[in-house]
Amino acid sequence: MYCKYCGTEISSEADFCASCGKKLGEGDAHHTLYRHELTRIKAAKELKNPKAAAALGFFFGWIFLGPVGYIYLGQWNWFWLTFIVQIFAYPLTAFFAYPLLPIVYGIHQYQMAKDVNELLARDHEQKPVAEAGARAIEPFDKTEL
Ligand SMILES: [Zn+2]
Repeated sequence: MYCKYCGTEISSEADFCASCGKKLGEGDAHHTLYRHELTRIKAAKELKNPKAAAALGFFFGWIFLGPVGYIYLGQWNWFWLTFIVQIFAYPLTAFFAYPLLPIVYGIHQYQMAKDVNELLARDHEQKPVAEAGARAIEPFDKTEL
């Protein structure tokens, strides 16, 4: 991603911009949950519908396929992670997890759709800023030399 203050390309996990030092990403999609390598979420190629994501998680959750919502959201790491976790969750909780998981999937996938859309929107609005900044500086340097 790109720093929203100075346009420098920076790591999407960064808390502070390495170039201008400003604090990044307050109240954005970079929840602690998504900082780990295994749980990192990435921007989708197009906007995702949070209600569709929630519906996938909720309805497929009843037939043990709640993780398909993560495929819709383009987050394969989350698909595999939850798929493996639920294999253990059902027997270990004596199927107490059965009525809970569809609700958890529904809520989480709804929220994740919003986060994924936010990442996409940010990529779109920040790239032009960086490019415009680069163009503004270039002619100046050349005429001076
Ligand atoms: Zn910066």
